Amino acid sequence: MVELVKVDEDIWEVPQSYKPDMKVPGRIFLSDKLIKDLEDGSIEQVANVATLPGIQKYAMAMPDAHIGYGFPIGGVAAFDLDTGVISPGGVGFDINCGVRLLKSDLKVEDIRKDADNLIERLYHNVPSGLGSESKLRVSDTVLNEVFEKGARWAVENGYGVKADLEHCEENGEMKGANFAKVSKKAHERGRSQLGTLGSGNHFLEIQYVEKIYDEQVAKAFGLEEGKVTVMIHCGSRGAGHQICTDYIKVLEKASRKYGIKLYDRQLACAPLSSEEAKDYISAMAAAANYAWANRQVISHWVRETFNDYYKSEIKMDLLYDVAHNVAKFEEHDINGKRVKVCVHRKGATRAFAPGREEVPVAFRNVGQPVIIPGSMGSASYVLVGTQKAMETTFGSTCHGAGRVMSRHAAKKEVRGSEIKKELLEMGIIVKAPKDSAIAEEAPEVYKDIDDVIEVVHRLGISKKVARLVPIAVAKG
Ligand code: 5GP
Ligand code: MN
Ligand code: MN
Repeated sequence: MVELVKVDEDIWEVPQSYKPDMKVPGRIFLSDKLIKDLEDGSIEQVANVATLPGIQKYAMAMPDAHIGYGFPIGGVAAFDLDTGVISPGGVGFDINCGVRLLKSDLKVEDIRKDADNLIERLYHNVPSGLGSESKLRVSDTVLNEVFEKGARWAVENGYGVKADLEHCEENGEMKGANFAKVSKKAHERGRSQLGTLGSGNHFLEIQYVEKIYDEQVAKAFGLEEGKVTVMIHCGSRGAGHQICTDYIKVLEKASRKYGIKLYDRQLACAPLSSEEAKDYISAMAAAANYAWANRQVISHWVRETFNDYYKSEIKMDLLYDVAHNVAKFEEHDINGKRVKVCVHRKGATRAFAPGREEVPVAFRNVGQPVIIPGSMGSASYVLVGTQKAMETTFGSTCHGAGRVMSRHAAKKEVRGSEIKKELLEMGIIVKAPKDSAIAEEAPEVYKDIDDVIEVVHRLGISKKVARLVPIAVAKG
């Protein structure tokens, strides 16, 4: 087993000498407290990622890291365009799983009494649960448009406003998507699930801003203490999952064809310049667009639900929509040179600094809004991207609290009905299809979000702006 070397406060290194084929060292960002929870397997995964061709600087893991498929969840890895690779395992099965935050003008004290009814209606209006079916009936032609236009398809069809698009990474539309690279099976799964939340970890949550840490940035973000927010967490549903499954097979073959030595089969990858990689990138972009359209349609139903309930137009502006499972082509400064690399973020959030052109004009002076969910029984956070992140983590930070207990163990050890009662006593209403779904997602299956956020804040790879507290949660 590898001995991690503490190189600085909250920074641990997996030495490059640990495996003969490591091209770079590994870097794991964790406090002394959190490191106790880190599974050995995720250190091994960081080391394995470091053996992949063309990897730059470090194979990294954020403080919410835990074991994933090939790459750890909470993983960040950037690859040189000429010598590097792309790997579906570094993106994840739920391509462009992500989070968005809607800001309302409602005050927490005004909606407490309505929270029960509101969450009931949201639960009803936004289909959720494993394999849940959409209220939309999209044809193949329309679905292809969704794959290529993303959130723009939704806005053009009445689900939201133009300003929403400016407040999504990539404007909610990843270029280079090609529906022809998406299999028939992925099309089928996608057609019936557009506008659905999914299950388990995905949620719709009514929250309020409990605390502001940075007045100036909060002002730029339009966040105020005591105001109600709605957080939406979901991804590309069966379509993205199928695309990942399909391309893992393609890239397993490609790894052999191009003679790439894999320490773990789950690291299947292909040189970025290869046809196989290009096909995966076009399909991945299609899945990313599907996810943006999905979150956009759901946002529209959330707004409708609030408007119907209050019988007036409730302000519900989108703060931002972040992707936390995706690979992107970005420019970064490496060894004093500005170069384009392919950054894989799997369970990691982009946290770009002020001035970066990818950051919407409205926030360009302060930095990118970073949205980090905690759990249904704890806080969630809004942070802001920093220059330190650009220098240290290819402009990345954590994506959540991260699991400490598997779903399987949680079902055995935690009683959903008791959690529901405890949360209610804390003033949090949970709506879920069954109690076991609550057990799998109980606050104790996750790390302490406050600890995780302290690490990224202390490191400066994103800075705290606001703390959000749940009022009512709808779980898929
Ligand atoms: P993932 O994308 O890895 O499934 O989940 C991202 C993060 O969402 C998890 O690490 C966890 O911290 C957070 N999370 C899971 N369920 C909930 C929930 O019901 N409410 C909130 N606010 N966060 C959650
Ligand atoms: Mn997901
Ligand atoms: Mn997610």
